[in-house]
Amino acid sequence: MTERLPLMAGNWKMNLDHLEAIQHTQKLAFSLADKDYEAVEVAVLVPFTDLRSVQTLVDGDKLKLKYGSQDISQHDGGAYTGEVSGPMLAKLKVAYAAIGHSERRQYHGENEEIVNAKVKAAYRNGITPILCIGEPLEIRKAGTHVAYTLAQLDGALDGVPASDAESIVVAYEPVWAIGTGEVATPEDAQEVCGAIRGRLAELYGAELAGKVRVLYGGSVKSSSAAGLMAKPDVDGALIGGASLDADEFVKIVRYRE
Ligand code: PEP
Repeated sequence: MTERLPLMAGNWKMNLDHLEAIQHTQKLAFSLADKDYEAVEVAVLVPFTDLRSVQTLVDGDKLKLKYGSQDISQHDGGAYTGEVSGPMLAKLKVAYAAIGHSERRQYHGENEEIVNAKVKAAYRNGITPILCIGEPLEIRKAGTHVAYTLAQLDGALDGVPASDAESIVVAYEPVWAIGTGEVATPEDAQEVCGAIRGRLAELYGAELAGKVRVLYGGSVKSSSAAGLMAKPDVDGALIGGASLDADEFVKIVRYRE
């Protein structure tokens, strides 16, 4: 079986200005520095305005903390007011870009075509996408959540070659669980994360699918992390609200303890 390095990624959403980001990142770095947290990769997805602050800290102190953005433009430059491009992010050495978060889909009209273009823009610029997919409540109630989520996966990966897809991170984030306090059960998370890996195997072969990290996201807390991580196809978590509390986030990172 392929060993996949667990990834715990904190999504700060639209919180923490660049000064607060410095404080928060220093606290995280201090708390994570002592023990063997190499067993888990840790990343923070920060507002664009925080990237430079976080980069300076991470580069300067050689912290083993990765950082990324919460979005990326599908375009590499030009007359796209308000957008932030892949080359700009690459220059700040971001490792990851969240793409297709449900809040982007809901409030900014991001459809499969846009998500697909953003995935390609990330790869074009050497940035690893954290592709967010997952069903809203009415789809879950109708029992069609697996098909719905796999259709989002298909759309996002349309035309993406295996040489790129092998590094993708897929985050299964049921919309009804995001920011609601209602975490999916480990069994529910496994059902869809397993199906995502199965579809990746159909699209790209079992070997590639075995390498891809599939995360669960939606109201993860330190009390739920270990149960979710015990499932074979859950390789980490995307953590929103709880990532703003450094102590709680560190407890999630150390879910094994
Ligand atoms: C998220 O923003 O991706 C998320 C999972 O949020 P929360 O953990 O707050 O539900």
